Amino acid sequence: MHSHHSHSGDYIAHGVDPLDDMILKVEKMKFHTYCLTEHIPRIESEFLYPEEIDNTDSNNGTDSLAQLQLNFSKFLEHAQRIKDLHKEGKPNIIIGTEIEACNTNHIQYAKKLLSEHKDLLKFCVGSVHHINGIPIDFDQENWDNALSSFSNKNLKQMLISYFESQYEMLQVLQPKVVGHFDLFKLFWPNDLKVNSKTGDCNVSNNDVDIITITPMTYLNAWDDIRQLVIRNLKYINSYGGAIEINTSALRKGLEEPYPSSNIGELVKQHCQGRFVLSDDAHGIAQVGVRYLDALQYITQTLQLDNMYYLKENGENRTVQLEKIPIAEFVNNEFWTLLKANK
Ligand SMILES: [Zn+2]
Ligand SMILES: [Zn+2]
Repeated sequence: MHSHHSHSGDYIAHGVDPLDDMILKVEKMKFHTYCLTEHIPRIESEFLYPEEIDNTDSNNGTDSLAQLQLNFSKFLEHAQRIKDLHKEGKPNIIIGTEIEACNTNHIQYAKKLLSEHKDLLKFCVGSVHHINGIPIDFDQENWDNALSSFSNKNLKQMLISYFESQYEMLQVLQPKVVGHFDLFKLFWPNDLKVNSKTGDCNVSNNDVDIITITPMTYLNAWDDIRQLVIRNLKYINSYGGAIEINTSALRKGLEEPYPSSNIGELVKQHCQGRFVLSDDAHGIAQVGVRYLDALQYITQTLQLDNMYYLKENGENRTVQLEKIPIAEFVNNEFWTLLKANK
């Protein structure tokens, strides 16, 4: 089995366990491939998370930003050590990084950093965590602020902004793996009332066009958003990228992984159903978390014919996507072991 996306407590503020301990769990669970993908350092202090801001930092966040740089170089060294210890491929360790597409500046910085470290960083997970510069997966308040940053709290504009940022990131970086494709669903309120014509969430009660829009209905309500999703998926298809099925959504209480099945169906139509699996673990307990539910999602909900995974070529050490027929994927002994230890 595989995970194409992970973090650890050694290198990010909200990670739980040391990377070495997580790798012990990965070995025990008999993962075939595990990718280490710590976040690229953010380079502007306005994008620091509260937990990262060093209160002794009298330098407007400069020290905290320097700490992110330091953590990232330590991560690269550590990841290489782990890789060296697993030369026999149990599991195959692939080193990458998760993109922080906070703004254009960060996307360009990622491009530079990936090329500077191309011997070490074999791929990236292309993620967007910000809309209008505001983090959408940190807490409800920030999600609400992101929505409020559009006039009349226009949900449609917010989604357009997300998919435009994603498209910019895709074009500059062509990530092999596209991370949590519909991350905005995490803090999307259940009862969000929207004017279906305008997309405004600032609505009055006598407005006749008010409906509740959810992460499962926006694509049907708004064809222009659907077209942006299709555009992005077609682009990913054109350079041969894959979409991750990311189980962190399940551990955070959502009913489906990222992406939801409405996006999943579009991936089947426009990106050849090219999916890889990721746990996005931040600690030992999150290694392979909710993978049995992911298996059901893959086989029952999306009914995929194939799954994919990244393979590092021994000769020139480039990575490429390999296809596994679904029967082979389902019959992997990983699942037997996972069920036995449930
Ligand atoms: Zn992420
Ligand atoms: Zn992540």
